[in-house]
Amino acid sequence: MDAATQQGVTRPLADGNAIPLLGLGVWQAMNGPESKKAVRWALELGYRHIDTAQAYGNEESVGEALRESGVPREEVFVTTKFHPARGDPVGEAEASLRRLGVDYLDLYLIHWPQGGPTLAWPGMERARELGYARSIGVSNFDVGELQELLAAASVPPVVNQVQFSPYEYRKGLLEACRQKGVVLEAYSPLGHGRYMASETVGRIAQRHGRTPAQVLLRWSTERDIPVIPKSTHRDRIAENAQIFDFGLSSADMAELDALDRTGGTQRALEREWW
Ligand code: NDP
Repeated sequence: MDAATQQGVTRPLADGNAIPLLGLGVWQAMNGPESKKAVRWALELGYRHIDTAQAYGNEESVGEALRESGVPREEVFVTTKFHPARGDPVGEAEASLRRLGVDYLDLYLIHWPQGGPTLAWPGMERARELGYARSIGVSNFDVGELQELLAAASVPPVVNQVQFSPYEYRKGLLEACRQKGVVLEAYSPLGHGRYMASETVGRIAQRHGRTPAQVLLRWSTERDIPVIPKSTHRDRIAENAQIFDFGLSSADMAELDALDRTGGTQRALEREWW
């Protein structure tokens, strides 16, 4: 699929903006040539959405790649995440903008609910008000945490980025997000690289003449769920983008859904890391 077409595959957000369904994740891509090359390749291959975070330490390289690509800033959806141990979402947004070399973020997320789900939100709202971020949201929030935040927020979060794949089919969380107008975004959609070896995924991939990675990603986009696979290899970045020219049947989807190991949980995480 060419750049122009892929760019058009977006999901509307409740605040009137839209998020491209496919993005490149850059967690564990080293700041420097590794991140820079990955982002450059992705942009060349038609990706228009990059997912970074203050905690990843590679915003500079993401920004350099963006500038050097020649793709106009307004065509690329840039997400970064507030590191909740750092206290001040506004000051940290300013630092991210400097590192990225851009004058706004498309999406600014609280990376995880450290200190409670509402603690950082006033600062996130302020960052949006100041024009630092077009949209604001959260990551790794359970249903209860989302509810608490929605009850307190003046501007509601529009995205909850969580670990989500056939093996982590958090159906309860997905359903609650839908009801609340929050788009669930899938991180680690390839199980951090582990799920390509799945027998079920392999069988479905073979049936469609596709690769296991493409099936895993398509499982999310089939439901209009944005996905952000990470790779630092050009061929894999290309492979992961070829997901808009085929579909999975309801039988395929049911087989993949059955891989869930979370019991359809409303939780975002099995255990906290902070
Ligand atoms: P993924 O599920 O995207 O898997 C990435 C791994 O799979 C890498 O080891 C990569 O290797 C490998 N890979 C990618 N594509 C292919 C392919 N086509 N064939 C074979 N191997 C492949 O893992 P992540 O955990 O990185 O999740 C993706 C993104 O989600 C992150 O980069 C980050 O942006 C976001 N995220 C957000 C979190 C949060 O708390 N909000 C937490 C975790 C992730 P290689 O690079 O060597 O190609």
